[in-house]
Amino acid sequence: MRMINWFRKSITCLFLPVVIVILMTACNGDNSTSTVEATEPARTAAAQTAAPHPLPTPGNDDAQFYWWNERVFYEIFVRSFLDSDGDGNGDFAGMIEKMDFLNTGEPSPDENLGVGGVWLMPIFPSPSYHGYDVTDYYDVNPDYGTMEDFKRFLDQAHERDVKVIIDMVLNHTSSQHPWFIESQDPDSPYRDWYIWSETNPGTIGPWGQDVWHKGATGYYYGVFWGGMPDLNYRNPDVVEEMKEVLRFWLEDVGVDGFRIDGARYILEEDEELADTDANHQFFEELRTHVKHINPEALLLGEVWTSNFAVKQYLEGGELDLAFDFDLAGAFMNSAASGRADRALNQLGFSLKLFPPGQFAPFLTNHDMERVMSQLGEDWDKAKNAATLLLTSPGVPFIYYGEEIGMVGRKPDEKIRTPLQWSDEMHAGFTTGFPWISVNPDYPEKNVAGQSEDPESLLSFYGALIELRNRHEALKTGDTYLIKSEAPAVYAILRVSGDEILMVIVNLSRDPVSDYRLSLLDGPLGGSYQVVPLFGEGEFTELTSTQQGGFNEYQPLMTLPPNARFILQLK
Ligand code: CA
Repeated sequence: MRMINWFRKSITCLFLPVVIVILMTACNGDNSTSTVEATEPARTAAAQTAAPHPLPTPGNDDAQFYWWNERVFYEIFVRSFLDSDGDGNGDFAGMIEKMDFLNTGEPSPDENLGVGGVWLMPIFPSPSYHGYDVTDYYDVNPDYGTMEDFKRFLDQAHERDVKVIIDMVLNHTSSQHPWFIESQDPDSPYRDWYIWSETNPGTIGPWGQDVWHKGATGYYYGVFWGGMPDLNYRNPDVVEEMKEVLRFWLEDVGVDGFRIDGARYILEEDEELADTDANHQFFEELRTHVKHINPEALLLGEVWTSNFAVKQYLEGGELDLAFDFDLAGAFMNSAASGRADRALNQLGFSLKLFPPGQFAPFLTNHDMERVMSQLGEDWDKAKNAATLLLTSPGVPFIYYGEEIGMVGRKPDEKIRTPLQWSDEMHAGFTTGFPWISVNPDYPEKNVAGQSEDPESLLSFYGALIELRNRHEALKTGDTYLIKSEAPAVYAILRVSGDEILMVIVNLSRDPVSDYRLSLLDGPLGGSYQVVPLFGEGEFTELTSTQQGGFNEYQPLMTLPPNARFILQLK
């Protein structure tokens, strides 16, 4: 019953000229609101650009890869990145200042994380510190700077071949958005831009929360929170408006794509609140629209649910790429437990479910407790987790601060604290007073310190990203899961053309001697010299079986504790 009401309404005011008076109230950027953010984007296949790479194995011959498959992405919360003007809020000018940290534009890994893409959490005006409740889709948050500042950032990123995608919050606006304020008036043309009911339908949402909220003139639907009323996508005016928003950012501003927030929840059907048929149809239409504007644009979806549901967005040509929440959980589980099976099994599922390469592995994001906190502040486990991530097929995403081992547990503000640049006051984040306290561990844990230490987590991330950037097999190669007799040993083969790489991680803090590796069927033929690209040692030659795999292969007598190797088979 719940959502039936708004079906009957809709489309009453179609041809009223939509004059959007955007009287933007200045956002004060306070941190008074925080809400459960829970959803993820998906991706679609497309007719595109990217030259297909010749791939050797059956099943992958028609694989299509795109520019995003060649890159490691980095998620940035602008408010917490770097404050350039001392007001305590990170800003676009701060990101420009630290561009070299992201990517110098040179292949050298020095001072250079080497990321090829950034995802910015919402940059729109918003009354909340996090920005997921938008009050104007055609402007930027004044806390972050001006649109001109943003365009300067975009230009400089593009000069270094760093792509920029922005968080796009389609499902809901802020309750302070002028559209919603207008819609409180039952006679307003904006009434049907939102979902109103005269009585309270009383529906309970996915987290047991109330999804109907009392407004001035009835009850309105908002799946996440009363401050975030859902837009009514049954109303064609809303669809057209949001299509125009996407056009504006792609064409007039020049971003490279979008991370679609809460993509499961755009269109409800009766009591079904997520992943409805109507929702799938919506994304099919939206992606067609986006590709018409820019065939290269990336639509990445936050579809935070089981991969069985996620894959439908990819198969249906609705999204280009989707975050792989299941794989994120499995990578973290294996890094924490020291057992490889969760990561290997889940990777196997993802390889079966998704179009080749069109899933985005990560460890944690801005909605989850930070990697280092989940791993008990164990640096070795953090390096193991990073190795699983950065050698994985798909498009890896790093959450800012993860690369220096920042800690953070809920509430949300505490997992979104300022990036720790140095041991100076407020971690070098601001010369003023930061919008939220910096983690107290910044004197020992910061970018400056770790940049100078070749053994640091930051250097480790830099080295692995650089390696991935240089080796096609790691980016778009086929993946073979290798069986080991030791539960702690994670091993995969990545293969592209003639390039054959073997990744081996001993997830345990103990040396492992009895770990024979086997691959039943594979792409190999003959005998190979085994040469390390990452890690050091003298490795045993490998001879393949008739089936192109290998049997009971031990590249070293003993794998050291937390060993991480990337070996090339020549
Ligand atoms: Ca600032």
